[in-house]
Amino acid sequence: MSDQYVKVQVEQMKSFGEDEEKEGVDTEEQVPGSSPSASVSPDHPTGTDASSTSLPCKQTGKSRSKPGREDKRHTSDVASQGSVVSAEKNLNRLGYERTLQVKGTGKILQRKSEPNGNYVTIHTSKNIEEMRREEGFKLAKKRRPVTVDTSKAKTSLEALKISIKQLKWKEFPLGRRTACDIYWHGVSFHDNENIVSGQVNKFPGMIEMLRKINLSRAVRTMQELFPEEYDFYPRSWILPEEYQQFTTQIHMVKEKDATVNPTFIVKPDGGSQGDGIYLIRDPSDLKLMTGSQAKQGVVQEYIQKPLLIDKLKFDIRLYVLIKSLEPLEIYIAKEGLTRFCTEPYQEPSQKNLSHVFMHLTNYSLNVHSGNFVHSDSQSTGSKRTLSSVLYRLAAKGVDIKRVWSDIIALVIKTVIAVVPELRVYYQADIPPGKPGPTCFQILGFDILLMKNLKPVLLEVNSNPSMRIEHEQEVAPGVFEYVPSPVDEEVKVGVIRDTLRLMDPGHKKATVPQQRASGFEQGEEIPMEEETQEKSQDETGTLPSLCLKQVYPKYFKQFNYLRLVERIAALFIRFLGVKGNMRLGPTAFRTFIR
Ligand code: ADP
Repeated sequence: MSDQYVKVQVEQMKSFGEDEEKEGVDTEEQVPGSSPSASVSPDHPTGTDASSTSLPCKQTGKSRSKPGREDKRHTSDVASQGSVVSAEKNLNRLGYERTLQVKGTGKILQRKSEPNGNYVTIHTSKNIEEMRREEGFKLAKKRRPVTVDTSKAKTSLEALKISIKQLKWKEFPLGRRTACDIYWHGVSFHDNENIVSGQVNKFPGMIEMLRKINLSRAVRTMQELFPEEYDFYPRSWILPEEYQQFTTQIHMVKEKDATVNPTFIVKPDGGSQGDGIYLIRDPSDLKLMTGSQAKQGVVQEYIQKPLLIDKLKFDIRLYVLIKSLEPLEIYIAKEGLTRFCTEPYQEPSQKNLSHVFMHLTNYSLNVHSGNFVHSDSQSTGSKRTLSSVLYRLAAKGVDIKRVWSDIIALVIKTVIAVVPELRVYYQADIPPGKPGPTCFQILGFDILLMKNLKPVLLEVNSNPSMRIEHEQEVAPGVFEYVPSPVDEEVKVGVIRDTLRLMDPGHKKATVPQQRASGFEQGEEIPMEEETQEKSQDETGTLPSLCLKQVYPKYFKQFNYLRLVERIAALFIRFLGVKGNMRLGPTAFRTFIR
């Protein structure tokens, strides 16, 4: 469910005064920053295992030792404490200083050469982690902090502020006259106009692309080309144009088999948070008009047998980062949310069709039911972490590795379905040669698990709510926002780690590698007790990344699906969007048909 834009805008205006004068030019900016590559750990001459190659060497001297002048002697007292797996030395005015890592102890031995040629131990107490942290702090200090314009962040602001603080970056809450490294927009690419450099957290055209009609169209194109691969999206008809088709097909099905009694869910095109959604059992129940205007929307096959937990229907909100369109880079957050209905589920019948708390998992609806359970625990209540739910399913014997791989496949295939048109939008807004920012975006995938554990895509939100507070009824009819630990845990991680991946100083380090991995064998699963990877941040104080690359990691398995993109490339090149963009996304849709 996307944020409710109107509500959001009003709040934003209240809290920030959007038209207030912008902050002046910042004079603190001229920090003598070392180049990004200065943050890369020094290349170590010795050591074969991973730990020894990543060991930072203590550099107290001004110059680094030259190859060929390396002292390879090891002293006997070192050998008596354990075998030495790495050694490093540096020159300073007094002589050589070297650090030695003692295998198995994590300890660093530091030794210094005296003018008489003897080595003297300076200290033996520091372990690798301490050294790494110290080095990290030094490097982080030297680098110019990454600047983030948060003036248009709207409801993501709280989580964003916490993330920026954790990263020790610099926030510009009122915007800035000179360029920032990152612009965080609450709604669309166009929230700030005339950005000519840096990175924006929205792609042009993403909102349009992910509206229910356009998403259904894009997936339909792929269903026609690859029916088996795209069977994770419920059968959908576009309203009003496919109303006749819908009616005819349903009548035919019912005539063939009178016992078949399907249910359909009707969704308005621009709707969110369950607004305007209703269930029907017969095409004649469709409300096609608003006054004299035909309603735009989709009517979709209703999944009648969802997987239940505690007799309740629930769906999964998964956060997905599109780090870049070209080359395509997709990351999935290992932790997500699950949102529970608040009335026990029953298969749809004429009697219960209007029971929204039974059929719709939207938080914004269920929070108003008397049964909504706010919980500080991540594994109870009406909103839980994905890992806690997977843990619970695993305990019941569910093959959650399989479920997780299927979810990853669904995400990659969906992104592949929308990328061609997105590229058309992108070229129209930021044509090659025109100065402009690069883009990335966090999307919210809403996924339902069927009783047979097959994941089904319900929708993709271009503006998933990043609020870390939830509404609570503090007095009858009076709602207030109070902190929500579950939301904070998940959303701060997603925003912070998106920023880490987009860090301009680290761009080179994260350039994708096309490697084929064992997708078929199952994926690393987001489980509660999952062992954490080693922290990769400079300061050593942040947790490991919660975002996991899935594309191009699984390039080999999915690349054949990127057929329409080639057509988009042709369209852009020969017909489309050069110059004044006379032919845009609508023309592209016609073109590919
Ligand atoms: P919105 O953007 O208004 O939230 P969604 O497409 O997410 O619209 O639908 C709202 C809710 O309706 C979902 O969270 C889910 O619980 C339920 N739902 C949507 N589509 C289906 C479907 N095809 N089958 C079963 N339930 C569905």
